[in-house]
This record gives sequence, structure tokens and C-alpha cells, in this order.
Amino acid sequence: MPTSLNARVTIVLTIIGAFSISAFVLSIVSLTIERDPVTATTTELNTVRTQKTPRIRVDLHASDLVGHGVYNLGKKALKGTDVELQGFAFVHHAPSSKEHQSAIKKFGSHADSSGTCYTFLAEGAYWKQTKNWYINTINTEGLSSSFLLNTAKTAANQWNNNLIVNPLGTGFATTTKTVSLDAPDGDNVILFGSIGTGGVLAVTYTWGVFDGPIGSRELIEWDMVFDEQDWNWGDADSTPSVYDFQSVCTHELGHAIGMGDLYNSACTAQTMFGSVGPGSTSKRTLATGDIVGVQTLYGDPVTDSNDSDSDTGSSLLSGQYITAKVILLSFVLIQMTAI
Ligand SMILES: [Zn+2]
Repeated sequence: MPTSLNARVTIVLTIIGAFSISAFVLSIVSLTIERDPVTATTTELNTVRTQKTPRIRVDLHASDLVGHGVYNLGKKALKGTDVELQGFAFVHHAPSSKEHQSAIKKFGSHADSSGTCYTFLAEGAYWKQTKNWYINTINTEGLSSSFLLNTAKTAANQWNNNLIVNPLGTGFATTTKTVSLDAPDGDNVILFGSIGTGGVLAVTYTWGVFDGPIGSRELIEWDMVFDEQDWNWGDADSTPSVYDFQSVCTHELGHAIGMGDLYNSACTAQTMFGSVGPGSTSKRTLATGDIVGVQTLYGDPVTDSNDSDSDTGSSLLSGQYITAKVILLSFVLIQMTAI
């Protein structure tokens, strides 16, 4: 090959090489550019997190409201299966919120004929197996992993210890598992996040079979979010200005195993009464109505008549809680609670 041709080939190869290198460099740059927002977002999240904007945001839709603090999540398939489950979300308002005040005025008694206060999500809807749970211990409240896990376990055992079955099993700390807000995913998880609905301290999602024959109903999954954007959490014994995590967790776990909210002013002593103020530790332990109610729902070994028709507690998803706006749904819900 003549020298001049060699030189031309070299030049062409050099140019091709230069383009290749440029393309390679460009691809790195583009990767870098693509990575930039991620890096920025992570940095931003970390910055924002210290300003109390958490990772998960719960947005409940007013159109799904079927009773005070009760949202219908519809029927969704359990992830990875074709099993369809009905979902409901139960929110817990701060006592100062206007939503809570109107509920106190609007809703009547949920006491049974003997005056004992308790109510169920739906008759017969309870855990038919023990299911362990997780608590994601990432939080902006400065609460330690051990405090959160041990406190949540204590709260869970308030219910477990009053039942032959242990519907809440035991808990495990995690920093990776999260709540499943769109459909059940098989894990029961407690998480700190943000709730968009005003005045709400915490929300519990419950998934299960709430309709059909009472004997075929059951609870399948729950998830729980504590709003750390608007409220401060901790141990109210040592820090009276905060909402007591153990008290509210005990209340929310009541929803997780099938108990409904109480709003009758005669029922304020119950853990399932739908209100608690900052600094209060009153819901850490169960009251008489909570115990009678949960033992009635699950079948107390001492008083169980094995006859659900004799249950006198009301169901939260009964007609009283159904608004006229959702006639079709109210029919379904009334059907599911009819005995
Ligand atoms: Zn509640």
C-alpha cells in the first residue's frame, strides 16, 4: 500500500475511532445526564426528609368515602394470584379536626344491648390464621428501630393476649418493606409516611372477604400508615406533647383484626373510640368493650356460643354508615352485614 494511501486509511480510521470514542463518551455523558436527576432526587429527598416530607403519601378520595373515616378501596386481586379481595381504609382523625367533631355529633350508639361498646368492620370478618407483620422503622421522628418494634409488639399483644388465636402473630423490623396502597400484596406492614386527607393521624388498610355467607368471610391483609408530616409521634409518657405511638398503634391494630371505630360519647373509654389527643396513653390497654368485642368476633373460649346470630355488636359497614350517594354500594354493604 502506498504511503499516501496508508496515511489516508490511518486518517479515516482515526476519524472513525474518534467518532467511536466520541459516541462512547457521549453515551457516558448521557448516562450521567440520566443519572443526574436520580442523584438530585435522592439528595432532594434526603434534604426534604429532614424537613418532614416522608416517602409514602396516602391520598384517599372523597368519592370512596362510605362512612365516617371509612373508604371503599374496591375489589383488587391479591398480587400474584387471581384471588379478589375487598379493601377498606379506616382513618383516625385528630380530635381537634372538624371531621372528627362532626362524626361525634352525627353518629349514634354502637353499644350493644347491654351497653357494652364495640363494633366490627363486618360480622364474621376476622383472621382465620396467624399472620406475622413488619414495621418499617425509617422515620423522621427520631424514633429508634428497637423502640418502634418493641412498642408495636406490645400493642399487638394487647389483642393477641385476649384471644386463643394470635391473629397478629409477631413483628419484625424492616427498612425495605413498604405498604401496598393499590392492591394487597401479602405482607402486613406498618410505615411512617404522609396522609393527604386533612386531620388524619393514621390510616389502616384492610383487605379480605367482607360479604357472602358469614362463615366464609375473613381478613387477609392489613397495612398501616402513621402521618409523620403533620403530627409528632413518640412515647407520650416521656414526651407529653407527642401523639403516643403505642396508644394509636393499639387502636389501629384493632382495625387490622376486624374492629371498627366507636364515636358514641358513652364509649370514650374504649381503645376503639375514634379519638385520642396528644399526650394521651389511654389506648395502650384495652377496655371492657374492646375485649368483649374482639372475643365475640373471634369466638371467646369461655362465652362463645358458636352462634354468630347471637352477636349483639354492630358492624361499622352497616347501613348507618352508608351515605345515600352510594346506593349500589350501600346495598352490597348492607347485604354483607345482614345476619
Ligand atoms: Zn380508628
